[in-house]
Amino acid sequence: MNKIKVGVIGVGYLGKHHAAKYAAMADVELVGVADINLTRAKEIAALYGTRAFDDYHAMLPMVDAVSIVTPTRQHFEVANTCLEYGIDILLEKPMTTTLAEADALVAKAEACNRILQVGHIEQFNPAVLAMEQYLTTPVFIEAQRIHSYNPRGADVDVVLDLMIHDLDIILSIVPSPIKTIHAVGIPVVTGSSDIANVRIIFENGCTANLTVSRISKTNVRKLRIFQPKSYISLDYGKKEIMVIEHLPERESNNMPKETIHHFAFTENDALETELRSFILNVRDRSAPKVGGNEGRRALKTALHIIEQMKNFILEHQELLG
Ligand code: NAD
Repeated sequence: MNKIKVGVIGVGYLGKHHAAKYAAMADVELVGVADINLTRAKEIAALYGTRAFDDYHAMLPMVDAVSIVTPTRQHFEVANTCLEYGIDILLEKPMTTTLAEADALVAKAEACNRILQVGHIEQFNPAVLAMEQYLTTPVFIEAQRIHSYNPRGADVDVVLDLMIHDLDIILSIVPSPIKTIHAVGIPVVTGSSDIANVRIIFENGCTANLTVSRISKTNVRKLRIFQPKSYISLDYGKKEIMVIEHLPERESNNMPKETIHHFAFTENDALETELRSFILNVRDRSAPKVGGNEGRRALKTALHIIEQMKNFILEHQELLG
């Protein structure tokens, strides 16, 4: 089998892990890593036995596919150049900072017949994959993503930084357009919102309540889904799910009898599953699980939420001090 020639552009915190995963794949050749910080590129290249580039353009003639793991504000320029060069791309989330850029990338990938996968890694979390078989009709969804502060990612709003993961999952499991959004968020330590609470009501009546913070003392990443005859509780961090299904029979106290399923996935690595899936798509030219349209859908909702939060801040100057 031919090895797929891959490069990683941007090898900071997350790009290093992309490089490590590719270097360990038998059917992939990690041709190089590129970073404007050449010292960092050389350090990562030495770890994984590959070449270092300070300008990613020099690497493009040598690769079939790349992971783009630069800060979000650089995503569009780098992704656009790679697609123009005829290279398949896995672009980290959020795919871009504007809808116009996302549209341009989706159109370019289609015109060039190239794969554009967006790095919504939670879709490859084994707990999320296991949840899919228990989904019926989500009626109420509660998502909580609370992190301690990390300056990486703080170049964008907490909605683009963290909430976009939950938006992507929720939009993929509720088969209905959004009817209304009510969003509140405030800046605390950065220039943009650091905590936010959002209520999304879908046209079919499903309601999702999302809370995010990137300035917490604890780390929690949970999703709870209430359905007419079942309840799913998912812990992204622990990679666990619990599903309670109601049976037609009743207990003596008139509560429905129930079955409880519990799954924990300690071995599974979501990044490896995500990159494996990308390489498979590159090899057999199949559509990615999270393509440009899915990345755009999450971005569109995130940008709408950010606009509402800006208005909230403008209208509540007195309250916020
Ligand atoms: P980081 O700051 O640690 O790394 C970014 C690297 O890109 C740096 O080494 C920087 O020198 C390099 N860089 C900047 N511009 C470049 C360019 N034009 N060409 C080549 N290299 C360039 O950031 P990070 O935390 O690794 O995040 C990178 C991206 O990954 C962001 O978009 C972030 O949102 C995303 N991310 C996604 C997840 C996830 O869960 N999927 C988690 C963390 C980060």
